[in-house]
Amino acid sequence: MFIGHFAVGFAAKKVAPRASLGVLMAAPIFLDLLWPVFLILGLEQVRIDPGNTAVTPLDFVRYPISHSLLTSLGWATGFAVLYHARTRYWPGTFCIWFGVVSHWVLDAIVHRPDLPLYPGGQMRVGLGLWNSIPATIMVEGTLFIIGVWLYAKQTRPIDKAGIYGFWSFVALLILLYIGNLFGPPPPDEKVLAFTALILWLVIPWVGWFDRHRRIA
Ligand SMILES: [Zn+2]
Repeated sequence: MFIGHFAVGFAAKKVAPRASLGVLMAAPIFLDLLWPVFLILGLEQVRIDPGNTAVTPLDFVRYPISHSLLTSLGWATGFAVLYHARTRYWPGTFCIWFGVVSHWVLDAIVHRPDLPLYPGGQMRVGLGLWNSIPATIMVEGTLFIIGVWLYAKQTRPIDKAGIYGFWSFVALLILLYIGNLFGPPPPDEKVLAFTALILWLVIPWVGWFDRHRRIA
């Protein structure tokens, strides 16, 4: 899943209004933040394979540390514990735990069976929504619209940065999503891993425009 993960982050602001959107968004994309790091370290493996599913040209050969159910629960708990130690804010803590785990669940809906339950396990899960472009756009698009709508309703811009920072982020995600669906596959695995690191920039960006919006 791609834009559906961002929907979870946006929606979390409704549950944990006092938490920064930066951290609320980091949670549902956390596994994908880790993934390129493990690819570069050679601990996980992806293969460019156009047509792997209708939606993605990627064959997720091996990603047991970033994307197994068991390690997801571990990342979620570690992230939530750290956050709670710093803030003592339960709604935020809950959103972070739930957000990290939601990534695995949403990926399990869209991926073909390639998600491991635990490192070293043989079983792979995935319901394969990505085999259909229309079904994928319907499900992810609906989630995304709901998430953006919840955040837009929950917060009000206090200045121009609060308006344009937010809406340009939404527009960029939609453009990237379309490029992802209909554009050419990445040239090779190395380029893919390094470009995937760009995702880290989401955290300061959303944290920035979120500071320029207040709770409605
Ligand atoms: Zn993922």
